[in-house]
Amino acid sequence: MNLYLGIDFGTTGARSTVIDSQGTIHCETEYTFANNGQQQPELPSVWQNALWDSIEQIPPAIRNQVRAIAIDGTSSTVMLCNTDGIPVCEPILYNDARGAAVTERLRAIAPDNHTVLSATSSLAKLLWLQEGGHGGTAPTVFLHQADWLAFLLHGKLGISDYHNALKLGFDVDTLCYPNWLTQGIAGAATPELPQVVAPGTPVGEVRAQVGDRFGFPRDCMICAGTTDSIAAFLASGVNLPGEAVTSLGSTLAVKLLSHTRVDDSRYGIYSHKLGDLWLVGGASNTGGAVLRHFFTDVELDNYSTQIDPAQESLLDYYPLLKKGDRFPINDPNLPPRLEPRPSDSVEFLHGLLESIAQIEARGYQLLQELGATPLTKVYTAGGGAKNSVWSAIRKRYLKVPVVTPVHTAAAYGTALLAMRSVTD
Ligand code: ADP
Repeated sequence: MNLYLGIDFGTTGARSTVIDSQGTIHCETEYTFANNGQQQPELPSVWQNALWDSIEQIPPAIRNQVRAIAIDGTSSTVMLCNTDGIPVCEPILYNDARGAAVTERLRAIAPDNHTVLSATSSLAKLLWLQEGGHGGTAPTVFLHQADWLAFLLHGKLGISDYHNALKLGFDVDTLCYPNWLTQGIAGAATPELPQVVAPGTPVGEVRAQVGDRFGFPRDCMICAGTTDSIAAFLASGVNLPGEAVTSLGSTLAVKLLSHTRVDDSRYGIYSHKLGDLWLVGGASNTGGAVLRHFFTDVELDNYSTQIDPAQESLLDYYPLLKKGDRFPINDPNLPPRLEPRPSDSVEFLHGLLESIAQIEARGYQLLQELGATPLTKVYTAGGGAKNSVWSAIRKRYLKVPVVTPVHTAAAYGTALLAMRSVTD
């Protein structure tokens, strides 16, 4: 049988999924990083161990039928390597805002409103590494987490995909690095930028040493990867313009498949290229973290069943844990609005769920006002997806069907990417 392996490197650990060409799951594994991946100097070995362990957990009889492998990583987690692929300094994680120190230079280099204009963008991190001389004087290669992990499997250094490279400034319209970028970073300690290919592009057969160690077929293909959030979108199976995935995890993130590209850094909105279409997304600070602040998951389940979703709550909140949001309202000083708080917990939860639903609907409305394809259907992922009362409330505001996808795991989406890379 032909099988396909997707490996997801998320914020807390690595998960893998093996599927067949029908999309049926044959094996799933899970590996949790020690220290939540925060012990930075040792991160490359943490990731490498996670990669080998994830593969080892897959039974040998399955491994020897794997035809293709792809890896997704957290977006904007980056590193500098020497020309042998050995990291020369600690990687910088996706949420690390040390790039704020190079804001002025970043603004001088990048066009107004560009996606890279953020303290956590890959480009901000590259400039920070460059200014601090962290790469030393020998030649270096700049890579994303997923690029480096795939390199461990195929041995070809310096290859990325245009999902990971978006926040580095790669231009997905012209499929090259723009001049403002290459000229802007030119200088003494400039690392080599990775060559960028489409996510899922076959890059090379598994290294003989890795293939022998784990029993992969000799011609098992290692493919270019993607980011963890796009992998989760791919898992949903959404492929029609107008369809969207809302992730109701700790925060609220929306992604709408669109004929048109929309980018607006004011609201943190940007578009990933997905075949001939665009995946337009935005993320709000509201979401499940606020619910978890007030309720346990058991209380969320119990109280939700006592809510009548057809009944509108008159409580008008903007649920945040601290001030500030970017999407759909761009206001760093936006205060959390959680008053008045009724004594009845069910009523309070109703107000919170309804207010988050309104923020979600406003988010989709904003994407459409800025030119995205009109919304036709919303799939839901994340911890909030299992709350059917909430889905009914959301449907009232979104005015389109709200459904739960069969698959939501990023590793599943990345396995699909691997499968399509060798079967399409
Ligand atoms: P993340 O990976 O972003 O941390 P998850 O996708 O695991 O988040 O979802 C966790 C969130 O889901 C928590 O913040 C929790 O409040 C929320 N959650 C859990 N159960 C429910 C429920 N029944 N209804 C609504 N939200 C829930």
